[in-house]
Amino acid sequence: MTESLYRGRTTRDWQAADAAHFLHPFTDFKALAARGARIVTRGEGIYLWDSEGQRIFDAMSGLWCVNVGYRQQPLIDAATRQMQELPFYNAFFQTSTPPAIELAELLAELAPPQFQHVFFAGSGSESNDTIVRMVRRYWALMGQPQRQVIISRWNGYHGSTMAGASLGGMPGMHEQGGLPIPGIVHIHQPHWWEHGRRLGLSREQFGLQAAQWLEDKILEVGPENVAAFIGEPVQGAGGVIVPPESYWPEIQRICDRYGILLVSDEVITGFGRTGQWFGCERFGTRPDLITFAKGVTSGYVPLGGVMVGQRVAQVLIEKGGEFTHGYTYSGHPVACAVGVANLRLIRELKLVERVRDETGPYMAELYRQLQEHPLVGEVQSCGLMGALTLVRDKGTNEPFAPEIDIAMVCRGHCFGNGLIMRAVGDRMIVAPPLVVTRAQLDEMAALIQRCLDLTLADATRNGWL
Ligand SMILES: *Cc1c(COP(=O)(O)O)cnc(C)c1O
Repeated sequence: MTESLYRGRTTRDWQAADAAHFLHPFTDFKALAARGARIVTRGEGIYLWDSEGQRIFDAMSGLWCVNVGYRQQPLIDAATRQMQELPFYNAFFQTSTPPAIELAELLAELAPPQFQHVFFAGSGSESNDTIVRMVRRYWALMGQPQRQVIISRWNGYHGSTMAGASLGGMPGMHEQGGLPIPGIVHIHQPHWWEHGRRLGLSREQFGLQAAQWLEDKILEVGPENVAAFIGEPVQGAGGVIVPPESYWPEIQRICDRYGILLVSDEVITGFGRTGQWFGCERFGTRPDLITFAKGVTSGYVPLGGVMVGQRVAQVLIEKGGEFTHGYTYSGHPVACAVGVANLRLIRELKLVERVRDETGPYMAELYRQLQEHPLVGEVQSCGLMGALTLVRDKGTNEPFAPEIDIAMVCRGHCFGNGLIMRAVGDRMIVAPPLVVTRAQLDEMAALIQRCLDLTLADATRNGWL
């Protein structure tokens, strides 16, 4: 089947055409053209196959999204049926379509009770652009149009559009875009290993300190000018940074104190990743807005959106007037039909409960064992997301010299051994599909162990230790 679908071109043909015409996201084009892309041709369950026939354990769920695994028939059927019935219609001109209505209804049922409304977008980045527009619209309608400033965090990730990258705290992205756009300011992240350890604070003391940085920033900007605070419950692209338990309740208290909207970017943590439907439930916050994308369709088709809590929705609806914002694909019927099928499947398979009670705790146990490895400093996990920090000296937790880029060495071994694990700074991170079984988690841990051993052998041989 693969042969006929791809008309029998060889890996080298694909790589040559890829290098000739396809500019990849977040890629050094020159370096990729020199090495050639890996051509992924097929997926089933938690595994992928490449054009050379190698099987790969996809411990990143595609890009944090293929939560129900590859080749799930209910999603395929939903897309096929909707394509036949009505592949597209918009929601601009007093029109709506059944799949968009059904998905909005289902999301309202699954989200915390303050959420009864949803605004659809095509991706996580677009959803965060919508956040910027919507919170400013809200405050204008509330008669406080000067409330423009949105506070976010360094090393947060909120997408790659102008607003998404501005909300994000990735200096390399800001540099290339003349960003952030006006009205977006950043505070430090709740990353104990990076900041708290150096300050000599316990994790929980540090959580309170990191939340205090929000209050300091609010007072610096002037509370009357602050519209919202946005954060990921667990930072994903930043390296699976699991905050101390004390952090989010304190953030909530500070937002409440100054009447600031709280936005939970749940593009990764939504729909079961943390063992709850939404990460805000895991960490005990009551956000006013939630952004989602990725896992809402398990990545089968692009879709994103904003869950709008009653505090904001009531004002937007009751004060009237047009909200001059939206996308051609807001409420795309095929995407929404797949979203409905995906969320029903997650519910039917009880994946959220399984992550909470079974696979999440089991992965935490496997990670505690990996902590014994001579290269591993800290391990963290939350539901089915995990991180290992690589260190040069386990006694002192001293990192490797930055020019060695030890995590990229490790990632190279993962590539060669049929495991997709991602490198961020000196952290190795995973987020396997929510359908992963205990036996498959054992397989993942064994592959990680082997790749760490190979990395250690390199470090020993090359005198990096
Ligand atoms: C991936 C991601 C985004 C951006 O989503 P895109 O669909 O790539 O635009 C935004 N926020 C978070 C937390 C993400 O992980």
